[in-house]
Amino acid sequence: MEQIKYCPACLGELEKIGSCGTVGYFCDHCKTLVSKSKTLTEQEKEEVKKSEGVGK
Ligand SMILES: [Zn+2]
Repeated sequence: MEQIKYCPACLGELEKIGSCGTVGYFCDHCKTLVSKSKTLTEQEKEEVKKSEGVGK
């Protein structure tokens, strides 16, 4: 089952790159690679949104 990962910086969807062995995630918005450990799941992304308080 494939789960979508999100960028910790912009909360955008990440593009999964690589194959089985080494997997990386690329943010098309930030134009940067995000290490797997820093990616956010959809749930985590929602948590961040809440805690940051959209519309400061
Ligand atoms: Zn990003």
